[in-house]
Amino acid sequence: MKSIPENLVCFNTFEADKPWTYETYRKHGGYDAWDRILKGELSPEQVIEEVKASGLRGRGGAGFPTGLKWSFMPRLQPIQKYLVCNSDESEPGTCHDREVLRKNPHALIEGMAIAAYAMGATIAYNYIRGEFMEEPIPRFELAVKEAYEHKLLGKNIQSSNIDLELHTFVGAGAYICGEETALLESLEGKQGKPRFKPPFPANFGLYGKPTTINNTQSLASVPSIIRNGAKWFKDIGVENSGGTAQFSVSGHIERPGNYELPMGTSFKELLELCGGVLGGAKLKAVIPGGSSVPVMPAETILGCTMDYDSLQKAGSSFGTGAVIVMDETTCMVKVLRRIARFYMAESCGQCTPCREGTGWLYRMLTRIIEGQGELEDLTKLVEIANKIEGHTICALGDAAAWPVQSFLKHFHHEFEYMVNNKGRSIVSIDDEVTV
Ligand code: SF4
Repeated sequence: MKSIPENLVCFNTFEADKPWTYETYRKHGGYDAWDRILKGELSPEQVIEEVKASGLRGRGGAGFPTGLKWSFMPRLQPIQKYLVCNSDESEPGTCHDREVLRKNPHALIEGMAIAAYAMGATIAYNYIRGEFMEEPIPRFELAVKEAYEHKLLGKNIQSSNIDLELHTFVGAGAYICGEETALLESLEGKQGKPRFKPPFPANFGLYGKPTTINNTQSLASVPSIIRNGAKWFKDIGVENSGGTAQFSVSGHIERPGNYELPMGTSFKELLELCGGVLGGAKLKAVIPGGSSVPVMPAETILGCTMDYDSLQKAGSSFGTGAVIVMDETTCMVKVLRRIARFYMAESCGQCTPCREGTGWLYRMLTRIIEGQGELEDLTKLVEIANKIEGHTICALGDAAAWPVQSFLKHFHHEFEYMVNNKGRSIVSIDDEVTV
């Protein structure tokens, strides 16, 4: 088993009393990296190189190298530049960014400050999911207030010639606003609909100005990288996947929850840490990275490690690190219909393949479950998914297509059984996994 680092990357204050306060964060080395920058000890280029060398990859789903993304920003152009943090966490099964906001908001603020400095941005927004109203948003806002009070944000911070104004923006509850260009539209006060790309946000982002959008967990990882060094972070993980990741484990599992573990931890170890499959039942399948990534049969995932390369090689994806566990009692047809309904409901409606295709998928699956399906529907489902994939403005189309393709690839016999038995499920207990 890979050793778990003593100081976790995102939750290094986790065991402390009130880990979200400024005092606790400071006690654990918080703001040390930002202090060094304010004293002029690190140039923006050095920060970017350090983050590149750390192997940190965006934790929002795409896994793009964070340092490389920062280097795309035209830092030296004498115009306003923005940093936007994406805390609009909505991928089904995913709930770890919420924990950063609740338990370690200062790590995110410090990470945002370092990122903004590296890219020459002087205004930063944190776009937070509206449903996080109860605890994560107030905690984050309190932490921002504390950071201003301790003169860590603002104009000419501690006479360093560095400016950073940091604002919170509360979203209105649409999954699509987690897509970075839809998020920018929403931030500008418009309907959250994805933009055509190019131009990319690094050149034409918020209000048409250069903008970088990073995920919450990615930014919260940055202070510990600067504090402990790129090598420390890289060595925690495996080749091409540095550091730790937070896994949100849900479904048929003894101890569901968020687990921060080294990248490259084997799935078997993760399962063991979570207490195993609920009630000792047999594992049937796992969706390893949020509902949009391809499902994996038990025999495949049991041989995988939890990192970008291993999961991709096995036909799925690391995604958001949200691991949805399904035991032998799960009806895969019903799970797929539930997922299909989600993407149908969340499509913004701009492009025809997504707007119409997601509805067709849902209605065909409903027909099968209601006992009116035909065997040719199974071919049609895959054909429709193939026509959506890669033919839309944003990745929601792909997110709707991949589950259909993969469920039918690995569990075709369950769909066939249901069609042939007029809506009866192959599993003895007609259960649906909770995601
Ligand atoms: Fe909207 Fe779907 Fe097109 Fe994305 S793929 S822009 S969500 S219609």
